[in-house]
Amino acid sequence: MRNRNAVVTGSTSGIGLATARELASRGCHVMLNGFGDRAEIDAVCADIAARSGTTVVYSDADLSRPDAVRAMMGQAAEALGPIDIVVNNAGVQHVAALHEFPDDKWDLLLAVNLSAAFHTIKAALPAMRERGWGRIVNTASVLGMVGAPHKPAYVAAKHGIIGLTKAVAIEVAEHGITCNAVCPGTVLTPIIEKQIAQQAQVTGLPEDQVLKAVFLGKMPTGRLVPPDEVAAAIAFLCSDAAGSITGTALPVDGGYTAH
Ligand code: NAD
Repeated sequence: MRNRNAVVTGSTSGIGLATARELASRGCHVMLNGFGDRAEIDAVCADIAARSGTTVVYSDADLSRPDAVRAMMGQAAEALGPIDIVVNNAGVQHVAALHEFPDDKWDLLLAVNLSAAFHTIKAALPAMRERGWGRIVNTASVLGMVGAPHKPAYVAAKHGIIGLTKAVAIEVAEHGITCNAVCPGTVLTPIIEKQIAQQAQVTGLPEDQVLKAVFLGKMPTGRLVPPDEVAAAIAFLCSDAAGSITGTALPVDGGYTAH
């Protein structure tokens, strides 16, 4: 993977940050993206670059806006060169019963969790096809494979991104480009910390019981998935060794979907 150019969306924390670190450690030049404190993000980029010896740049593009996604992909190619690897990882969540689910949250979740991937892939494919090599990995979720209450937009978007993964995989397979999804179980990141609080409100349960009943209860391993394990799975799917793996949705879920 040395000298591959990668864009990892939603990489200022959690799974995305672990993935950016992992790809850089394997020799990739990386564009990070996401929200957060600019000084902290700059420090993280400098740290990754110092450890890996690769080029690390950052875009603050808001992926709910298609024009911003396109601009980010243009900046990535300008800064790094043609993009070989796209990891569509940015994600947001909102928890509410469907009859109370705000319309604007539905639109936001579909835009960030699903449509942004359409736009990054659309922007990246021409150069990948020209070079005859490409890796696209979409961070879906176990909720791309099974349903759950109070998360209609998230479940719909994550099922959608697995569909997009298959459609892209088939369309570009003969050009040396693969497209896969990873489906994490519960990974303790800011997105989950917020959900534990929201679920506690919706269900009326204390937060420690929500963690056990709603999140850990579904995973036979009985432990949260470390972000590094998801990053390792993504990095494998980006490697040459995974050249024949395409159109898949790989659970990294402690057995959640084995039930
Ligand atoms: P996180 O909150 O740590 O990271 C989310 C990232 O997305 C952050 O960098 C954030 O700044 C970025 N982001 C949010 N909205 C954005 C926008 N409009 N434009 C650009 N960036 C934006 O969460 P995480 O758990 O690391 O989530 C990463 C992905 O993994 C998401 O797609 C999430 O749905 C998925 N996932 C997480 C879990 C889990 O248990 N944490 C489980 C399954 C799937």
